[in-house]
Amino acid sequence: SAAEVLALRQRYLNPGLFLYYKRPLMLVEGKMQYVWDETGRRYLDGIGGILTVSVGHCHPHVVAAANRQNETIQHTTTIYLQPAVAHYAEKLASKLPGDLKVCYFVNSGSEANDLALLMARAYTGAYDVIALRNAYHGGNASGMSMTAQSTWKFNVPHSFGVHHAVAPYPYRGVYGYDDADAGRKYAEDVKSLIDHATPGRVAGFIAESIMGVGGFVVFPHGYLHHAYEHVRAAGGVCIADEVQTGFGRTGTHYWGFESQGVIPDIVTMAKGIGNGAPLAAVVTTPKIAAVLTQKVHFNTFGGNPVVSVIGQAVLEVIDRENLQANCLTLGRHLLEGLEKLKARHAIIGDVRGQGLMLGIEFVKDRVTKEPGRELCAQVVENARELGLLLGKGGLWSQTIRIAPPMCLTRADADFILAVLDEAIGAAGK
Ligand code: PMP
Repeated sequence: SAAEVLALRQRYLNPGLFLYYKRPLMLVEGKMQYVWDETGRRYLDGIGGILTVSVGHCHPHVVAAANRQNETIQHTTTIYLQPAVAHYAEKLASKLPGDLKVCYFVNSGSEANDLALLMARAYTGAYDVIALRNAYHGGNASGMSMTAQSTWKFNVPHSFGVHHAVAPYPYRGVYGYDDADAGRKYAEDVKSLIDHATPGRVAGFIAESIMGVGGFVVFPHGYLHHAYEHVRAAGGVCIADEVQTGFGRTGTHYWGFESQGVIPDIVTMAKGIGNGAPLAAVVTTPKIAAVLTQKVHFNTFGGNPVVSVIGQAVLEVIDRENLQANCLTLGRHLLEGLEKLKARHAIIGDVRGQGLMLGIEFVKDRVTKEPGRELCAQVVENARELGLLLGKGGLWSQTIRIAPPMCLTRADADFILAVLDEAIGAAGK
């Protein structure tokens, strides 16, 4: 029973692993965009294991690929030739623009960003790095050094040479939605940090393409373009953290950075890349990749045969089932619906997003914009009772995050809007 599992968890699992709902939810089965609890109750999964279940729970093509590989050979490490990882790397590289063709597989987003940082520093011979406030880049030491939200920082020095620039935030920041030049203006803070907080040279700049844990904040047009220009002028490389925004989720493009019109030097990816399997990657140019040959760099599990065939199957499903186009169509439909909800419910301060990555920011008061943390938590609880699982995010945990598996249907999208209307209405009373 859920009570027994809770008791085991409380005794044997680290209490730092927090639970989401007041009445803990136990999930025992998943099929595409739906999950079931132990009583047989079905939920629409509106957050997909935190943007990880990209093509659907237990997608048959992914399951079949994993099963076949599990019965053939499971693990060898990278010291032998392995067909699965070579074919997968070729296919993944074909999805990236420019010279981004060389893959290094690891096991998590934190590891990917740690490795990207290592590459940037080794390649440039510089040490200082610029990241964004409100960003989340990982839970290991270097991931936390790049993460700026204090909620997620723990016992690490504030930076290992990492400087945090003001993150674009049109709803709350100094340059709002009405400022057509906001992208360029926000990027000035990157320039200012380079000039005044570093020796004038930097190893790199890391940014998500849409702020993920930070509350699905979409950057104003041109922001990354201008930031990249400043960083490259100071000798640094540009790292795109595509852990949440990659693989077609944003609808308009395969990668989030493409909607900002830039090509990074290093791309990190995790979460949706493996549909739940522990797989992550750093993809870069041959020139930057070559820096690792100066030393021995090793990763025991990264890109093992089982996760490689899963990664390959995920790419195939995204193509065959036109999931990127689905994200675009349903994302637009949902955003229109969210705008209508905003007009009906005063506790909604802002709605935003791209593709199937949509945020609703709650406020106690629309004029003061006081963050509505408790309101947001109540909406999430209410929605669960109505059969919909949602994510939370933002600096004050005041933002609902909607990011279901990309196989969502229009009927599912309408269900999400109907549940939200009821759940928000009840919370706002
Ligand atoms: N980058 C981003 C943008 C993330 O959202 C996350 C995880 N929330 C990470 C990196 C770290 O990934 P992982 O938890 O797999 O280490």
